[in-house]
Amino acid sequence: MHELSIAQAIIDVATRHAEGRRVLRVEVQVGHLRQVVPDSLQFAFALVVQGTALDGAELAITHVPAAGRCRECGAERVMESFPLSCGACGSFDVEVLAGEELLVEALELEEDLLEKSRVSST
Ligand SMILES: [Zn+2]
Repeated sequence: MHELSIAQAIIDVATRHAEGRRVLRVEVQVGHLRQVVPDSLQFAFALVVQGTALDGAELAITHVPAAGRCRECGAERVMESFPLSCGACGSFDVEVLAGEELLVEALELEEDLLEKSRVSST
């Protein structure tokens, strides 16, 4: 399953940044061209986090639409479907500008939460 390796990659990055702290929430950006099914990724994530510092963490997925610039006519468009083609002239010679993202954007760590609650109680 494609999503399983993506979930594993997310966990690897998050674990490295957490440095032993518990991770409560992970925010990721996933580009359209990754062809990730959000439900499948959630499912894979829930499986792979078991026994890690991310066990029970919430996964928040932000979908990034694919966008490209046509090398024929120069049009910049959001591209919804495969094969990628220019919405203006129909050329398949497009340069991808967005949609290949697979980024761990933010982490919420247990320590951060404690910090926050301390701030709000004063
Ligand atoms: Zn074009």
